[in-house]
Amino acid sequence: MARRKLIYEGKAKILYEGPEPGTLIQYFKDDATAFNGERHEVVEGKGVLNNRLSEFFMLALANVGIPTHFIRRLNMREQLVREAEMIPLEVVVRNFAAGSLTRRLGMDEGTQLPRPLVEFYLKDDSLGDPIVAEEHIAAFGWASQQEIDEMVNLALRVNDVLSGLFFGVGIRLVDFKIEIGRIWENDYPRLIVADEISPDSCRLWDIRTGRKLDKDVFRHELGDLADAYTEVARRFGLLPANGFPKRPTLVN
Ligand code: ADP
Ligand code: UDP
Repeated sequence: MARRKLIYEGKAKILYEGPEPGTLIQYFKDDATAFNGERHEVVEGKGVLNNRLSEFFMLALANVGIPTHFIRRLNMREQLVREAEMIPLEVVVRNFAAGSLTRRLGMDEGTQLPRPLVEFYLKDDSLGDPIVAEEHIAAFGWASQQEIDEMVNLALRVNDVLSGLFFGVGIRLVDFKIEIGRIWENDYPRLIVADEISPDSCRLWDIRTGRKLDKDVFRHELGDLADAYTEVARRFGLLPANGFPKRPTLVN
């Protein structure tokens, strides 16, 4: 097979040029990183699970009319997506207090928030992804005021859909991060949900037991990350009958 053109290699994924202009192939790696790349491990099977889970969530969004970059899954580790002009922000929605919100405002982890909060962080590893205000976004031209309003709406719609989906399988969606990109249609920009939606980018707690089923398992060394992600995939019925083999199995 001809070598594909590498566009970008990040911490968790690789982007290759897609088969048609305006498309990309997103390859999901097994690498897990935390604390701005300070902790790094290879978690066998993580890429396969995130590829499948991200497909599932992006399709769920598309089914209720929320535009996403997802076109189709190509194989266990790759999906075809629409190339977007990425807005350099991480858009976080929070339903319960956790992570940086508890650290910043001294709240107890798990406190239910009076309403979902939408926050913006500048996507810049060298600065540690600092939180930014809408004022900064508009003033520095990362997005227009109209796009900021659209991003808030989009993020809240995504929150409604995902919260319901997770609740249906006994999981609380505590918070999550999405990345949003622009695509151009007849010279007009349209915002779409891009990147990935997976347990890497969400906080997911089992409603009954409180068990953490997301990347905090890795961040705080709470157990086997692949087991937690497999449990999420299992609840949505996404596992083949025998689960994803962690290691290639030798068939005699
Ligand atoms: P990071 O860059 O934070 O290390 P990843 O390893 O997940 O993260 O890399 C994926 C990169 O691809 C991110 O920089 C993300 O913004 C970018 N990206 C995701 N979806 C698209 C898309 N549809 N078009 C263009 N770029 C995308
Ligand atoms: N998040 C993410 N990528 C990041 C930062 C945060 O996917 O670079 C997700 C994180 O998994 C959580 C939500 O965004 O679901 C809010 O994260 P928070 O601001 O609490 O940061 P953290 O405590 O992880 O530093």
